Amino acid sequence: MSAISEKFGSMVFDDTVMKEKLPKETYKAMRKTILDGKKLDISVANVVANAMKDWAIEKGATHFTHWFQPMTGITAEKHDSFISPSDNGKVIMEFSGKELVKGEPDASSFPSGGLRATFEARGYTAWDPTSYAFIKEGTLCIPTAFCSYGGEALDKKTPLLRSMEAINKQALRVLRFFGNEDVTSVKTTVGPEQEYFLIDKDVYEKRKDLIYTGRTLYGAKPPKGQELEDHYFGTIKPRVLAFMKDLNDELWKLGILAKTEHNEVAPAQHELAPIFTTTNIATDHNQLTMEIMQKVAKKHGMVCLLHEKPFAGVNGSGKHNNWSISTNTGVNLLEPGETPYENAQFLLFLCSVIKAVDEYQDLLRISVASAGNDHRLGANEAPPAVVSMFVGDELGEILNAIENDAAYDAKEKVQMKIGVHVLPRFPKDTTDRNRTSPFAFTGNKFEFRMLGSSLSISGPNIVLNTAVAESLREYADRLEGAENFEGALHDLIRDEIKAHKKIIFNGNGYDDEWIREAESRGLLNLKTTPDALAHFLDDKNVKLFTSHNVFSETEMRSRYEILLDNYIKVLHIEASTMIEMAKRDILPAVSEYSKELSKTAIAKKSVIPDADCSYEEKTLRKISALSGEMLAALEALENDMEKTGTFACAADEAEYYKDTVIAAMARLRAAGDGLETLTAKKYWPYPTYGDLLFSVK
Ligand code: ADP
Ligand code: MG
Repeated sequence: MSAISEKFGSMVFDDTVMKEKLPKETYKAMRKTILDGKKLDISVANVVANAMKDWAIEKGATHFTHWFQPMTGITAEKHDSFISPSDNGKVIMEFSGKELVKGEPDASSFPSGGLRATFEARGYTAWDPTSYAFIKEGTLCIPTAFCSYGGEALDKKTPLLRSMEAINKQALRVLRFFGNEDVTSVKTTVGPEQEYFLIDKDVYEKRKDLIYTGRTLYGAKPPKGQELEDHYFGTIKPRVLAFMKDLNDELWKLGILAKTEHNEVAPAQHELAPIFTTTNIATDHNQLTMEIMQKVAKKHGMVCLLHEKPFAGVNGSGKHNNWSISTNTGVNLLEPGETPYENAQFLLFLCSVIKAVDEYQDLLRISVASAGNDHRLGANEAPPAVVSMFVGDELGEILNAIENDAAYDAKEKVQMKIGVHVLPRFPKDTTDRNRTSPFAFTGNKFEFRMLGSSLSISGPNIVLNTAVAESLREYADRLEGAENFEGALHDLIRDEIKAHKKIIFNGNGYDDEWIREAESRGLLNLKTTPDALAHFLDDKNVKLFTSHNVFSETEMRSRYEILLDNYIKVLHIEASTMIEMAKRDILPAVSEYSKELSKTAIAKKSVIPDADCSYEEKTLRKISALSGEMLAALEALENDMEKTGTFACAADEAEYYKDTVIAAMARLRAAGDGLETLTAKKYWPYPTYGDLLFSVK
């Protein structure tokens, strides 16, 4: 075995380890639970727990934790040691099935959106056996879901698992029509490409804005940014390379298939892509990847910035959610097949996604909404805030032909008949051309590109899984009653293309013309988080989630509150940080520099009465005017901030931040950035954009 394959997954209690460490019967029971969601007996859990503990101790672990994903969007853990007192005053290492299956963290301070009154503040964590346990920093981590005692989901995993169950159920119904009797489960798969910035720790520590908010709130444009595009796929600097090597090592040990790495468009920006896996595991892995990226960067004297928009004027960071649907027999349902029948099946699944994206544009937009991501969507780098789909010219032509009962290949002059024709394979290079589409078909999967870099991928996949489950449910209902299956299938696909083709757009998504056209097509353009969130509780959305048992209406309301609250808090912290930086650092520094200029002018004139002091005088004049403006902007923002916290509801407060506070922050920043360009470097209190972006040599 090579060193890498030996290292790979060495810290994971995966299938190979289970096979080796568990008695045959226990292993079989575990497999049933993992594959078919069968409930695990406590006696079986006891055996698994004991084997897990022995394996973990062998690997040097001393503690265990239920690892969960509360609504903060980051992961949480509460460590317990394996140590138990024994009769003879010594200790033994213990871990029971009960401890494996259920935990009760004192987790009352996690956001619950009003779901959990504090008197019953404790929620509980429940083992998710479909995601393997792993060892991180000497602790055995058990992936768990986090719920209230009433059974309401308080986390990002529970609804994701429910949504996977929903799509599994409906996809199986549809597959039966195509005679796929051997398929027993269908799962969605995800490969999330992750962008990030690396900057030197020393410069980072001098920026309060980065420390408090993860992004720069001031900063004049550097002489060189990304205009030469020389960073993109450029040679990787040795320090970054050393980081990437270490990162890969750590991720591989956890069984995370980190595969590619390259520089991105902006200076200091990079990307990591894992090989795809089942959605709930991919979600766990992406959370771990973000955490480990930050830890490894620190070890290398750098800081990994995961914020969506750390720097104005250079590209922000996103996450591309590559998504598909696979059967347990290894068939990718979004891959055009070899036979007409397989192609018909492919087209039906394709339609189910087109319909889902069209009907739930709002939910997809909401699933990526955050104060941070509002800086990207619609700026000229990330997809626009309008959700549309790219299917490519070839597939577009086929869909057209089906819709119009016409020939799709002008030469062959045959009508496109479902169940008769073999579709061409769509080579990747022809389907992957469009980089500006928010939702692109890339040959055998869809790539949802609106996610911000720091987002948990759970939300967008909950929406995708559930919305597609709904399409499939409707299809299955319609096909179930059909007398002539092939005819009904043909009509269904044709009707669906007609009904939902407005969501398909193969052109340049960055074009202003497109935004106008999108609006005339009736597509939504939800520019900001409050605009988007206003749709979350629309009847059709509540109906979608409740009818598939993914969220109850109460759970939806709590999530709505949490999302709004987060938006408000982020902006509150940003505005407060800007105020502090202006008052305590920037204005005093500028005043100091003004004094220096004045003193210099006076000194010069005392030696040479008619000395030319135009540099000092002109600069002083400009600085005085701008610092006056900065003070006015500062006072205006402070004034605006006094009204926050007085609104009747969170939605009103969020609107206020969006319309008033953000504008006041922009005015303050403009004055600050103007002053930065006028102030001598040694007086300026912070590292500049140039210092930050080119800090890693
Ligand atoms: P790129 O987009 O960089 O050219 P790929 O298309 O090969 O590279 O893959 C991008 C991401 O899509 C990877 O994370 C890959 O694992 C993932 N991916 C590929 N196939 C699937 C699939 N069937 N389901 C989900 N993700 C997939
Ligand atoms: Mg991509």
